[in-house]
Amino acid sequence: MPQTKLVFINGRRQLVPLNQIVRQDSDRKYNQHRKQVKSDYLAFYHSAQWQHTRQSVLLRDSYLCQRCGLEASLVDHIIPSEDDWEDRLDPDNLESLCRDCHFWKTRRETVKRKKGQHRRMRINIIAGYPASGKTTYVHKHAGQHDLIYDYDALMSALTGLPLHQGNVDANDYVQLFFELILRKLKAEQTFEQVWIIQTYADDKLDSLLVSHDLHHIMLNTSRETCIERLNKEHRNVSSLLKAMNRIDEQKHDGKFAKFVVVDG
Ligand SMILES: [Zn+2]
Repeated sequence: MPQTKLVFINGRRQLVPLNQIVRQDSDRKYNQHRKQVKSDYLAFYHSAQWQHTRQSVLLRDSYLCQRCGLEASLVDHIIPSEDDWEDRLDPDNLESLCRDCHFWKTRRETVKRKKGQHRRMRINIIAGYPASGKTTYVHKHAGQHDLIYDYDALMSALTGLPLHQGNVDANDYVQLFFELILRKLKAEQTFEQVWIIQTYADDKLDSLLVSHDLHHIMLNTSRETCIERLNKEHRNVSSLLKAMNRIDEQKHDGKFAKFVVVDG
């Protein structure tokens, strides 16, 4: 006897072969709704504009999967177009992928979206003079499932140089990380909290991350204390004084008005 399963078809119980896919009215309704909502989305994937962009990205990537190096068969949005409609034709947001890599990426995105559904990620922007204790403050308050953007730490990791040394050429690369991180954060709620160590106030950052729970924190360590620390660490005080002056200008211009001041 073939294996069967008990299903409800439009409210009535019925035994059907185990491998039969049961379509229901409710599915049909769901699919119709989905089609309507997604009509823009589908039209986009059939547009000549998309076909053209798609071809140029495949050419740019030499038809190679950007994750594993095998032959690419499709072009993927790094930030899903559902999350970031504006960037859907931006070549910087597109990459060629093979079917397998695309499958796993999409699956991870679905899991993340589910996780983020009931979460409003808190983003903390930490500013303050050099050596005011920003990193220490963040490490004291960060949790197990947080993301920390720390320019100095990244520079050190990328160059192998001690903290606060770095080199000019690596600067662009550290900035690249920041841009990519911001782009991804804009569309996701993956982390409990994100910490961005920043030195200065930055309005652009606020408008970009407007859909998140943004908190601005300013370390109140005095200039004198910071200079003392910088001297002790044998850092270049004269160049960092410029940074301090710029912060003072920003303070004067009211750029730190929304920052909560904390002890460093
Ligand atoms: Zn691949």
